[in-house]
Amino acid sequence: MKRLVIKFGGTSVGNIEKIKKVANIVKKRFEEGNEIIVVVSAMSGETNKLNTKAQSIAQNFDDKELDVLLSSGEQVSSSLLSGALIDLGIKARSWLGWQIPIITDDNYTFSKIIKIRTDEILNFISHKGVAVIAGFQGISKENRITTLGRGGSDLSAVAIAKFFQTDSCEIYTDVDGVFTTDPSISHQAKKIDKISYEEMLEMSSLGAKVMQPSAVQTSMIDNIPIHVRSTFSEKSGTKIISESEIDYKKVVTGIAYSKNNAKISIIGVVDKPGVAADVFEPIGKNNINIDMVIQNTSLDGKNANITFTIKQGDLKKTLNTIEKNKKTINYNKISHDDKLAKISIVGAGMVSSPGVTYKMFRALADEKINILAISTSEIKISVLIREDLTQKAVKKLHSEFGLN
Ligand code: ADP
Ligand code: ASP
Ligand code: MG
Repeated sequence: MKRLVIKFGGTSVGNIEKIKKVANIVKKRFEEGNEIIVVVSAMSGETNKLNTKAQSIAQNFDDKELDVLLSSGEQVSSSLLSGALIDLGIKARSWLGWQIPIITDDNYTFSKIIKIRTDEILNFISHKGVAVIAGFQGISKENRITTLGRGGSDLSAVAIAKFFQTDSCEIYTDVDGVFTTDPSISHQAKKIDKISYEEMLEMSSLGAKVMQPSAVQTSMIDNIPIHVRSTFSEKSGTKIISESEIDYKKVVTGIAYSKNNAKISIIGVVDKPGVAADVFEPIGKNNINIDMVIQNTSLDGKNANITFTIKQGDLKKTLNTIEKNKKTINYNKISHDDKLAKISIVGAGMVSSPGVTYKMFRALADEKINILAISTSEIKISVLIREDLTQKAVKKLHSEFGLN
C-alpha cells in the first residue's frame, strides 16, 4: 500500500463538473489500494475576486485580515470535493489548515510551514478514509490564520509529502506537465519529461506559474520528487527530480517570462562607497523586492547611474521612497519605465556550453528586440525587454535553442 498526496489546482476544481471529475480521479486512486491525502486550491478566479474586494475597502488592507479572507476560497473547494467523494460512497472529510494544525511562521500573506500535526489524519486514512486538506493556509503561533503566498497550495502539498512521509507528491493541473515554455504563449512548447529541482526553481521564480517557487525550494531542500500531471488527460507528466538522475542533451531546458516589471534609473549619484547601500536600504526597509541591478560610472569616474528593476505594482511606492530620501541619496535626475518583461533561458546544460549568451543576444537582435538589462547565474540568463515584445522573444529563443 502506498501513501500519496495528490494536489488539485484551481483550474482543476474550477466548476462543479470539474469537482465531480476530480472526485472520480481520487476515487480511482483510492480504489487502487492507496492511502490518499488530497490537497485542494480554491476554485479558479476565487482568490483574485477576494483580493479585489479587500483592495476596494483599502489599498493597504490589513495583512492578517487579508489572510482570513483569501484562505476562505479553499474552505469552499475542500468541502465541495469532500461532499462529492461522500456522494460516490467514499469515506471523506475536509480539514482546514488550523484544524490539523499546519503551523506556520507569522509572515502573513507569505508564510512558511514550520510543522504539521499528523496523528489525526494518519488515523483517518489508515481506516479507509480520504483526507481532503484545504491548501494555501495554516495558522501562526499567535493563533491567527496565515496564507502561503499566491499559488501556495503547491507548497501545502510538498510540506504534507514531507511531514506525512508520503511515497509520492503529485500536482494535478490544467496542462500535461512542465513545458519548454508556457504552452499558452507558444504552440511549439513541448512537455519536458524530467527537470531538475534547480532548473524548476529558476523557471518558476522567473515566471513559470505551473509550480510555486517556495514549493520547489522545499522539495529541493528535502529531496521530495514531484510529479506534475494533468487532471484532464492520462499523459505521463513531468518529474521534478535531482539533477544527477537526468541526462542532459540540450543546453537550454526551458524559457520563462514574467510581465509587469518596471525599471528605475537614478542618474548622477556620487560614485563613492556606500551610495548603492544608501539607495537600496530605504527601499528594502519598505519591503520592496529589487530584481536586476546595473551600475555604470561616468568617464571622469565622479558620478554613477544606478538602474534597477522591481515589480510594476511597487513602482509608485519605490519612487516615493527615493524622493523622500533625496537628501541622503543625492542624485541629479530619476527616470522610470514600466511595461517591461523579463525573458529567461534556463538550463543545467549551460554550465558546460560556452557561447550561449552571445547566441541569445544575437537571436534577439535579429528580431530587432532591444535589451534593457541583463542578469545571469550558472544556469540562467535573463534579459529585460519591452513587454509587448514578450511573445516574439519567447518564440524566437524557443526555436533558436532547438526546443521547437
Ligand atoms: P493550477 O490552477 O493547477 O495551480 P496554475 O494556473 O497555477 O495551475 O499553473 C498552470 C499554468 O501555468 C498553465 O495553464 C500554464 O499556462 C502556466 N505555465 C507557465 N509556464 C509554464 C510552463 N513552462 N509549463 C507549463 N505551464 C506553464
Ligand atoms: N488559491 C490560491 C491562489 O490562487 C492558492 C493556489 O491556487 O495554489 O493563489
Ligand atoms: Mg498554481
